[in-house]
Amino acid sequence: MNARPETTPKVWLVGAGPGDPELLTLKAVRAIRGATVLLVDDLVAGGVLKYARKSARIVHVGKRGGCRSTPQAFIEQLMLREALAGERVVRLKGGDPFVFGRGGEEAETLRAHGVEVEVVNGITAGLAAATALGAPLTHREHAHGVMFVTGHAKEDGPALDWAVLGAAAAQGLTLVVYMGVAQAATLQAGLRRALPGCTPLAIVQSASRPEQRHAVTTLGGLLDTLARERLGSPAVLIVGEVLRGLGALNAVQRTAA
Ligand code: SAH
Repeated sequence: MNARPETTPKVWLVGAGPGDPELLTLKAVRAIRGATVLLVDDLVAGGVLKYARKSARIVHVGKRGGCRSTPQAFIEQLMLREALAGERVVRLKGGDPFVFGRGGEEAETLRAHGVEVEVVNGITAGLAAATALGAPLTHREHAHGVMFVTGHAKEDGPALDWAVLGAAAAQGLTLVVYMGVAQAATLQAGLRRALPGCTPLAIVQSASRPEQRHAVTTLGGLLDTLARERLGSPAVLIVGEVLRGLGALNAVQRTAA
């Protein structure tokens, strides 16, 4: 550990984007290059780490829902300890650090302990998923806004009201759902209260990565398509008329690696 008491302790919360290292920002690359310690989420693609110094310590702190995970409090303590010891700490998070994924909580904890926080944007998965489909999320013929929603609500918080979100979608707001696959049955039933079964829906898995796959179907066809195509995490669901005209509904496409 480097003791550098004269510098203010600082942590960079850096968005690693959806996977493709070419989607990193220049700022993100600079922060990664400068890091002496990197704490890396499991949704961060390995290619992003090629920018790290050889001498940097890389700690994988995956915390995917349902899998073996590092408790959030431990990650925060580790960031704090390293930053206070004078290390240049980069916390690499998938997508954008402040779109789901608890970046906000990490920033609050760090600041509460007198650690400076710099946030570096990343391209969030929902945007990469739309681009994978060639779908403009706010095409003005079909939508005047977009909602980013997590299907994985806080355990002690209120349950999501999918019917209300469906009603907003019916008003022309494209719906982009993160972590929605595990909730597909609930989501489908709720949205169907406000939207017709023929509403276009897409599932995009591993957007911007070599293993990217997607299926374009309808709200009514969601469960069948998921089961048939075995699409799963990490995936984003997109619902709305902006998907119409993408080609045949019920189409599945694999991107050649
Ligand atoms: N901060 C991240 C989101 C973290 S939540 C961001 O801005 O993208 C984790 C969820 O993001 C996953 O469960 C999945 O729904 C979505 N996700 C992350 N990377 C993805 C990718 N490459 N393709 C599709 N979905 C992805």
